Amino acid sequence: MSELTPITVARGDGIGPEIMDATLRVLQAAGARIAPEFIEIGEQQYRAGHSSGIAPEAWDSLRRTKVFLKAPITTPQGGGFKSLNVTIRKTLGLYANVRPCVSYAPFVRTLHPKMNLVIVRENEEDLYAGIEHRQTDEVFQCLKLITRPGCEKIVRYAFEYARRHGRKKVTCMTKDNIMKMTDGLFHRVFDEIAPQYPEIETEHLIIDIGAARLATRPERFDVIVTPNLYGDILSDIAAELTGSVGLAPSANIGDHVAMFEAIHGSAPDIAGKGIANPSGLLLAAVLMLVHIGQPAVAETIHNAWLRTIEDGVHTAELHGSLSIGRPFGSMDFADAVIERLGQRPEQLAPVRYAWADAAGSAPAAAAAIPVALPRRAPAVKGLVGVDVFVHAAGVSADFVAGQLSALVTPPFTLQMITNRGVKVWPGGFPETFCTDHWRCRFVAPQGQTVTHADIIGLLHALTARGVDVIKTENLCTFDGERGYALGQGQ
Ligand code: NAD
Repeated sequence: MSELTPITVARGDGIGPEIMDATLRVLQAAGARIAPEFIEIGEQQYRAGHSSGIAPEAWDSLRRTKVFLKAPITTPQGGGFKSLNVTIRKTLGLYANVRPCVSYAPFVRTLHPKMNLVIVRENEEDLYAGIEHRQTDEVFQCLKLITRPGCEKIVRYAFEYARRHGRKKVTCMTKDNIMKMTDGLFHRVFDEIAPQYPEIETEHLIIDIGAARLATRPERFDVIVTPNLYGDILSDIAAELTGSVGLAPSANIGDHVAMFEAIHGSAPDIAGKGIANPSGLLLAAVLMLVHIGQPAVAETIHNAWLRTIEDGVHTAELHGSLSIGRPFGSMDFADAVIERLGQRPEQLAPVRYAWADAAGSAPAAAAAIPVALPRRAPAVKGLVGVDVFVHAAGVSADFVAGQLSALVTPPFTLQMITNRGVKVWPGGFPETFCTDHWRCRFVAPQGQTVTHADIIGLLHALTARGVDVIKTENLCTFDGERGYALGQGQ
């Protein structure tokens, strides 16, 4: 018998303790070689003044075990509370959110009985960087950050996942027809990495048509890789399509630490009644067992669980015409899974963690993932202009242009002004609605560069005459290639 693997366990809030106890009971009966360390997270920790819902000492356990099985928590209403999940993801660098979404028809009612896909969502970047500002009376901004190392890690992870799990196709979804630089980078990196996996079919879909097809024909997808926000939305849609969000697990994977949980919340409406379905958390524990190198136990539990569902052993929210007897409570359901350990489903497809078996003893899933590609040498950067964002209410584009043109300092010229990304000067349309937020582009003569001192000189001239400058963005070329959008609403 090999050594026990320490794991950090949080029993959470609401239904959390009930479903965690049920899950741990199955794990123990199946012979999972784990040594749980319990930590407190959630509502009480928030109330005790820990703004992220986790006490400082709990981090020690997470950093020591590097594996976290987490029950759902209740986030208190009101301001001042930070999302525990977002804090954990960012602090521990959990860059990949992996969410298998599988239909269990006819035992779980769904319009899409053949669905079996995995969403690999980038977990740290995009609009979730939390960099938001109010800039004017009328305008608020959220910064969308996409990095090349971030794209490389998540795209690589998606292909490695597909390869290890015998998946045939990886679909990338972005909105790069509009966000050519940020989403464009994600798509480009996907195209760069794809040839290293010649056995895997690839495709790219614009997120809107991709989401539409996911909603109508989810069976055409296998693995989907996508930036953070799209992945957040898609993964909830996909889980809902399977017929029950209560069954879906998710894994948050980083280079050092991984966190496993059900996708649902703490269900305060049914907490304490012993009727919650522990399946989402149990299947999350299955993902965890594969991750920590115990695929045989994972396979035994997963197949016993499939057999349980197939035998009509259902908790209240799944109860229907194919269910036997009265709805099972959380613990009775766990006992039914335990009774079936060693059995396989007869109608639903059994799982086989073949990639793990083939290696004899399975490597931890994250450990075998290649590290990010070497960073590229820094490009030769040329500063060629500056976008100056100005707050001015109740004025026209021509007025702003006239004011700024009178103040501009050499070597700049005012090239254009946009309002909410639409060009309003020169040659704007009177029909264009304008708010109090003007993006004014100042450029050097073609082929020339400027200095930071030139920009400071320009800002000094503008602000000295009362122009309310909100912020600036430098316009740069990288190895001669434009590093900014043309910005005419294109
Ligand atoms: P929820 O997922 O808790 O509940 C939505 C509905 O699904 C409820 O009717 C609930 O009874 C039912 N449900 C959920 N899980 C179930 C299960 N295992 N078995 C049977 N029925 C189940 O979503 P909510 O009501 O929007 O959120 C409640 C709390 O959970 C909030 O405080 C929210 O912030 C938190 N939350 C936490 C997490 C997390 O910790 N990862 C995720 C989502 C929501």
